[in-house]
Amino acid sequence: MSHSHPTPDVYEQGKGMDAHNQVMREIRSEKEASYDPHEPTRVWLDEDNTPGGVKQSLTIILNTGGCRWARAGGCTMCGYVAESVDGGSVSHEALMDQIQVCLDHEANEADEPADLIKIYTSGSFLDEREVGAESRRAIAETFADRERIVLESLPDFVDREKIGDFTQYGIDTDIAIGLETATDRVRHDCVNKYFDFSDFEDACAEAAIADREADAAAAGIKAYLLMKPPFLAESEAVADMISSIERCADVEGCHTVSMNPCNVQRYTMVDELHFRDGYRPPWLWSVAHVLEETADIDAIVVSDPVGHGSDRGPHNCKECDDLVQKAIKDFGLRQDPTVFEQVSCACEATWEAVMDLECSYNQPLTR
Ligand code: SF4
Ligand SMILES: [Zn+2]
Repeated sequence: MSHSHPTPDVYEQGKGMDAHNQVMREIRSEKEASYDPHEPTRVWLDEDNTPGGVKQSLTIILNTGGCRWARAGGCTMCGYVAESVDGGSVSHEALMDQIQVCLDHEANEADEPADLIKIYTSGSFLDEREVGAESRRAIAETFADRERIVLESLPDFVDREKIGDFTQYGIDTDIAIGLETATDRVRHDCVNKYFDFSDFEDACAEAAIADREADAAAAGIKAYLLMKPPFLAESEAVADMISSIERCADVEGCHTVSMNPCNVQRYTMVDELHFRDGYRPPWLWSVAHVLEETADIDAIVVSDPVGHGSDRGPHNCKECDDLVQKAIKDFGLRQDPTVFEQVSCACEATWEAVMDLECSYNQPLTR
């Protein structure tokens, strides 16, 4: 099978990982919910570490009809399609209504407008089949007075002119790419994602050009990595993550890596594996270990584990989960590995045994 430069369409036609796609389609067909195209999927306020320092952020999950790849089957851990509008695209007017709902939320909840805007679509903001050029430009204009914006996209759609729609207003623009891992075999076989590391490198090069072309703003790439996809043992997942962070940091144009520990989402292959005791989300000790090991590389590395401490999220023994989670978040803001010296727990010995003994054919070794 050739992985040279497949497009989503090629995979949608069944030339990709047919077995994974078939299973994922069957699992996803169990979903029943449908959602209002005039409401964003989610919106919230937070703070984030950026190349310009720690900023107040407004995170928007736009409802754009969902990821086309997910409709074909999609990634083994991703349940986001279940949150999207059924079959089809969302109009310009509906998208702008969604943005307005987010601005209203911000006006009600925050003292002042956030410096950083982050827009995710559970797909690709830069795919014009999801967000048309008219909507993209109107959204750029809406946020023209903000400092920085993060836009989620698959690498295929990253384009200097689309980035230019934002940088022309002086907004520092980052494209968030769900690379998941720098290892093509793990991305293809464990995650069922269709693009290659070379596509990510091409997208970074495109962002680097947009950066040079922009007068008063910067452009760059933020890589999202998946800690512990299914079918990898704990130690394999840790080793893959350390090398992935190093390889991303080496690519010009990629300034930030966000490591996301896998959590068990509904209507996914990971959920089926977990249900049959075939998958355990990563230990928080593994997340801390990766951050410590990569602390000296030349990129910002952050992690904000979702669902920590629960059976379906990254966890240790439950006793120490909140403490380790707090250290991980502190590291994200300060990039100081000594935060991990202050946390310890008896379950570290269990984690060390898992790291030694768990292999992909006998996992998980513990719950
Ligand atoms: S992880 Fe991204 S590309 Fe994969 S199915 Fe989910 S939304 Fe689509
Ligand atoms: Zn513990």
